[in-house]
Amino acid sequence: MKFSDYRINEDIKRNLEQLGFKKPTDIQYKAIPSILKGEDVLAIAQTGTGKTAAFAIPIIHLIYEQKKSSRSDAIKCIIMVPTHELAIQITEVFEKIAYKTRVKTLCIYGGVDQAPQIEALYKGVDIVIATPGRVFDLVHQGALALNKINYLILDEADHMLDLGFIKDIQDMIRFLPAKRQTLFFSATINETIKKLAYSLVHNPIRIQISPKDPVSKNVQHAVAFIEMDAKRYFLERVISEHKESKILVFVRTKVRAERVAKAMERVGIQTLTMHSDKSQEERFSTLKEFKDGKVKVLIATDINARGIDIPNVDYVVNYDLPEKSENYVHRVGRTGRGVQKGQAISFCSSEEKEILKEIETFLHNPIHVIDMEQAEQEEILFLAKEKEIPEGDWRSLMAKAEEEEQLYKEKKKKKRK
Ligand code: ADP
Ligand code: MG
Repeated sequence: MKFSDYRINEDIKRNLEQLGFKKPTDIQYKAIPSILKGEDVLAIAQTGTGKTAAFAIPIIHLIYEQKKSSRSDAIKCIIMVPTHELAIQITEVFEKIAYKTRVKTLCIYGGVDQAPQIEALYKGVDIVIATPGRVFDLVHQGALALNKINYLILDEADHMLDLGFIKDIQDMIRFLPAKRQTLFFSATINETIKKLAYSLVHNPIRIQISPKDPVSKNVQHAVAFIEMDAKRYFLERVISEHKESKILVFVRTKVRAERVAKAMERVGIQTLTMHSDKSQEERFSTLKEFKDGKVKVLIATDINARGIDIPNVDYVVNYDLPEKSENYVHRVGRTGRGVQKGQAISFCSSEEKEILKEIETFLHNPIHVIDMEQAEQEEILFLAKEKEIPEGDWRSLMAKAEEEEQLYKEKKKKKRK
């Protein structure tokens, strides 16, 4: 089936054509009719499979049709997302699909001046895409009315219903009409959150695509056992072997992000960093630079593991394994989006083997192990250390290098025997 065969507004079809969307993806094929029928939906589909348009297309169509008979300027739909970057990205998709339809979308998030947001609300919008904090502020100031909302959508739903956000979401739901349509979308979900989601709706339709393997089939992913101290040399190697590629590197903490960036800088590799210590403006400009490909390597914490759709990310490197298993799926899902293919590699140290096990349990599958010969590991370390010689003290360093080479040769010899 093609989009042209759908019973949706012609203006929307034209916009989809402009976007190059001809056929619906699996999740779009399954979710669109249910949403058009007015059903509550819990949809789980892999990363990069077009979940945004799966709710944007039917919601824009429904609101567009309603606007033909009613001139109401009230907010009809609210979409809750975890990060500012994601709010902006989804707003862009809505604006493209709703181009010239009179359906108006507004993006609302904190950390920036609220006056322009209030002014835009005052002029009237149909759809609000927001992070929870700022929504709450505006509701309490009376600038944002939620009592006419027909559609509530939680993107990255499991995350929005998890500890950090659930209270905000529950508080917000109190302001919504009881009679409404609720949609949940994510690539991951667990049993507890699923129950919680069901408790918020009437008769949800559950749509799940490829439940067996949560990792997108477009992503080839593997793990290599590399000790903590050696990780930066391996990252250096991955980057220098793929100079033309866009690489997204995930680390555990913001301090580590800066430290890895410094280590790369020392060997002449330019990188960007993204974590919660950066200002909102820095975060936006960093993402733009990376999207435009001005700098090819971005080192980030989990703040942007979810939802972000950056074209042409060729590699994801898990420099550290993620502490939350589901974030493995989201991190590696930043590559291999749409019809593209991608690769992901995780560096697992001895200390991280437990985490690896947990991730594999979450995935219901073992992760392919890249077999790196001991000798190869040592060679990389040796070459890397050789490059790192600081100014001065040449003699002792030369002696040390010779010693190391000797050791290395002996080991190789032993191995051959
Ligand atoms: P998800 O939310 O499932 O991770 P997104 O909604 O961010 O995925 O979409 C991933 C990519 O797929 C985007 O770049 C989007 O433009 C593209 N895409 C979505 N739907 C289609 C379609 N029907 N045909 C072609 N490309 C699509
Ligand atoms: Mg998404």
